[in-house]
Amino acid sequence: MMIVLIMGPPGVGKGTQAQKIGENFNMAHLSTGDLLRDHVRRETPLGLAAKEKMAAGALVPDDVIIEMMLQVLEQHSSENSANSAALLDGFPRTRDQAGALVNAGINVNAVIDLDAADELIIERLGGRLVHPASGRTYHTIFSPPKTAGVDDVSGEPLVQRPDDRPDTVRARLAVYREQTAPLEDY
Ligand code: AMP
Repeated sequence: MMIVLIMGPPGVGKGTQAQKIGENFNMAHLSTGDLLRDHVRRETPLGLAAKEKMAAGALVPDDVIIEMMLQVLEQHSSENSANSAALLDGFPRTRDQAGALVNAGINVNAVIDLDAADELIIERLGGRLVHPASGRTYHTIFSPPKTAGVDDVSGEPLVQRPDDRPDTVRARLAVYREQTAPLEDY
């Protein structure tokens, strides 16, 4: 299986680009944030354990994330041919998470590293709207939906992610610069 990581601070466009790359190159888009938000919605034990950390803009503990992602990758590889490809969006975010990939014998073929200035990120996330069921995102100014407040495809309401409020965005950026950006060297 080919594995490509898409990395960068929150709000830089990982999800947007991963969705496009996935469609153009027929790669599965595996987003830890989307997977976690789905657990939170379904109120699974994992979702209940992750909810508060996510709301605070902190990282969910490594052991929880590692177990979830290794399971997802194993399932993906068992359901797809050996030459299938996956794009990991939002994982790994710490050295221990990266180490877990290595320990599991999972080779990373390429890394796409995106970056943007903090002020731009705060502006983008402040106006971001999400369609929870599909993960589709919009921006009130840069990429508005056809009808204000509703998803173009389903007509369902759009919401602001609770962790996209400015204080939490600052916390997420700090966590990124401290714990995830150093992975570039690793
Ligand atoms: P994202 O959608 O990638 O911005 O992720 C949203 C939130 O989910 C993050 O702020 C973290 O609380 C949590 N999260 C997502 N991926 C990870 C990860 N690899 N390690 C720890 N926490 C994560």
